[in-house]
Amino acid sequence: MKPLIGISCGTFHDRDWCPPSFGHRQTYVDAILRAGGAPLLIPPVPDELTLRILFDRLDGLLLAGGGDIAPANYGAEPHANLGTVDPLRDSAELPMARWAVAEGKPVLGICRGIQVLNVALGGTLYQDIPSEIENALAHNLSYEREDWTHLAHELRLAPGSRLRQLLGVERLLVNSLHHQAVRKLAPGLRAVAWAPDDVIEAVEGSGEGFVVGVQCHPEALQGGADPRWQRLFAAFVNSCGTEQRRAARAA
Ligand code: MN
Repeated sequence: MKPLIGISCGTFHDRDWCPPSFGHRQTYVDAILRAGGAPLLIPPVPDELTLRILFDRLDGLLLAGGGDIAPANYGAEPHANLGTVDPLRDSAELPMARWAVAEGKPVLGICRGIQVLNVALGGTLYQDIPSEIENALAHNLSYEREDWTHLAHELRLAPGSRLRQLLGVERLLVNSLHHQAVRKLAPGLRAVAWAPDDVIEAVEGSGEGFVVGVQCHPEALQGGADPRWQRLFAAFVNSCGTEQRRAARAA
């Protein structure tokens, strides 16, 4: 049996007169498939009971990339440079992130996903890096270059972190397609990677369970640009497939 990995969907608007679509980029699905998981797209359903039914079926949760989280979720007023928000998606992802951490269901957050993890557990965000952090790097450089594999800046990984152990290096170059970042770190998370300007680029849970968030887009690198990132997806999917987790689900 392959572990069932839920990928939380974003809302996509193509034409004004068409209903929006729920979905995600193929690279997330590819990365989970390559790692041996069975990917399942989770729509942002509006009621928590239905959301819970979907969540309960999952062996692991992938919080994928996307737009900005509505700042009211972390007690802030909207900044002038706040990007597009998706309140329905917020209302689905924030509870699922909290459930996953509380119940020991493995969770991997990517880009928006690291931000969802942090906000769900009580942290806050920079709403716009260029206008809120002095001398910040160009964290949206890969987006501006229109190249998901463009290596925009270095990461420095914390000793003793899961990520450093998996990647086997202290520093590496990553893509960067974000204008928001973790500000106040949530209780229960620790920072494990930083950009050269000290922006937090990865977090891990303080407990035993698999709780990892990265600000870069490893799903876009693992297929060729930097195959070392396959190890992150493999570790995530493996942690979802352990006998212990299956036993816990059956109980
Ligand atoms: Mn960055």
